[in-house]
Amino acid sequence: MSEKYKVTIGLEIHAELKTETKMFCACRNNPDEEQPNSNVCPVCMAHPGTLPVPNMKAVESVVKVGLALGANIANFTEFDRKNYFYPDIPKGYQISQYKYPIVSGGELNGVQVTRVHLEEDTANNKHDRGDFSLIDYNRAGVPLMELVTEPVIHSAKQAGDFGRELQLLLRTLGVSDANMEKGEMRVELNLSVSDTDKFGTKVEVKNINSFKAVEKAAEFEIKRHIALLEEGKGSEIVQETRGWDENKQVTFSQRKKEDSHDYRYFPEPDIPKMYLHEMFDLEKMRSELPELPTAKRERYEKDFDIKAEDIDILVTDLELANFFEGVVSSGLTGESIKKASNYILSDLASLRTGDFKFPNTKSFAKIMQMVGDNKINSRAAKDLIAVIVKEDIDPEAYAKEHGLIQEFDEGKLKAIAETVISANEKVAADYKAGNEKSIQFLVGQFMKESKGSANPQLALQILKDLLK
Ligand code: ADP
Ligand code: ZN
Ligand code: MG
Repeated sequence: MSEKYKVTIGLEIHAELKTETKMFCACRNNPDEEQPNSNVCPVCMAHPGTLPVPNMKAVESVVKVGLALGANIANFTEFDRKNYFYPDIPKGYQISQYKYPIVSGGELNGVQVTRVHLEEDTANNKHDRGDFSLIDYNRAGVPLMELVTEPVIHSAKQAGDFGRELQLLLRTLGVSDANMEKGEMRVELNLSVSDTDKFGTKVEVKNINSFKAVEKAAEFEIKRHIALLEEGKGSEIVQETRGWDENKQVTFSQRKKEDSHDYRYFPEPDIPKMYLHEMFDLEKMRSELPELPTAKRERYEKDFDIKAEDIDILVTDLELANFFEGVVSSGLTGESIKKASNYILSDLASLRTGDFKFPNTKSFAKIMQMVGDNKINSRAAKDLIAVIVKEDIDPEAYAKEHGLIQEFDEGKLKAIAETVISANEKVAADYKAGNEKSIQFLVGQFMKESKGSANPQLALQILKDLLK
């Protein structure tokens, strides 16, 4: 974007916490429940006279997130009622946190975090059935954390990257699956553009269901704001909530933003105040956090001689990284670690569809050793990887049985080369006449004749020698 305009973005991100039960009742918290209104009870259906009991696992999850962000964990915290009327919230208010969030401050990916608080999710409204709406209360009362960043993000890409990094952090901590497509993680984009040293008017964009869409929506808004400012129509930029239309790849106006006092927040009288420093051993929790993504990246850079982009792919994919580390710890060193990362990121990753299961790490490491020792060629390595993904076999025995072990017996290889040359005299003559490329055909025939067990470089060398 141009120097003249300063883009400012702040994110508000919700994530459903992965707990056994809901936030204030004993109903199951199951995002995969397909039967509508089956995980419900008088509490989450807001029957009169019921009382909420906070789920301490959810509180603990938010504390963990705060510790991982290097944030301040409040000692005193309380829940508040956020009042509004809509059928997705049967009580007429949502239990949330206002003045005393569990977490304040902290930082992720160079972006300052304002706060992280805990609230309950709302029901799912289905408006797409015709003249009526349906409501599924399975999601009502599911523990939901909300993280708010400071307005310190300055590009679409940086906004997307923050979301990705937070998703990775939540998964690493095991507190949320944070799938954007499933609505387990929801990103709201606050964005303004200014050509002065003051902030411009901010809009908020909702209904974004992928990180790519976060970036697209931000790019769209940045362009829209700049175009209006350029035309001297800055006053047409109003503070409002906009939606993201994934099909049309545009944002559209939804409603003018309500102020927070409209919600008439007040402390929830039915839930006791909490003193977190007494309820949790924060030092112990901090020391028991898993290795965080930043530390993991640094360790990979230090320990493995792998390309930066590849480290990034591995570190952002917990399953892939766990598999890679399993393979490495089965006894690989130096070059073969690099090989393993290449085969994992290209060949193994391409097999990761449908009911894919990660193979035995020892078998994978064995294949890496065999290809490293030139016992098998890369074609055979790929084939073997495809086999061990399907069944748990011994790769070495399988390779022997299927003739995948490379032949280095000079005499045998020479005999194959001679057979190939006499069966393809024209091509051989063509090569001799100076058409260098035609030897590739002969190499191909050679590999076929050897059932793939030869080393292609060696085959080329032998053919060249014979045709000199
Ligand atoms: P509101 O009261 O409208 O909800 P908040 O102050 O609570 O606004 O901020 C909500 C989000 O908007 C935060 O992530 C914050 O960083 C971001 N934000 C605030 N002001 C701006 C601005 N001028 N431009 C872009 N983002 C902003
Ligand atoms: Zn319930
Ligand atoms: Mg706000």
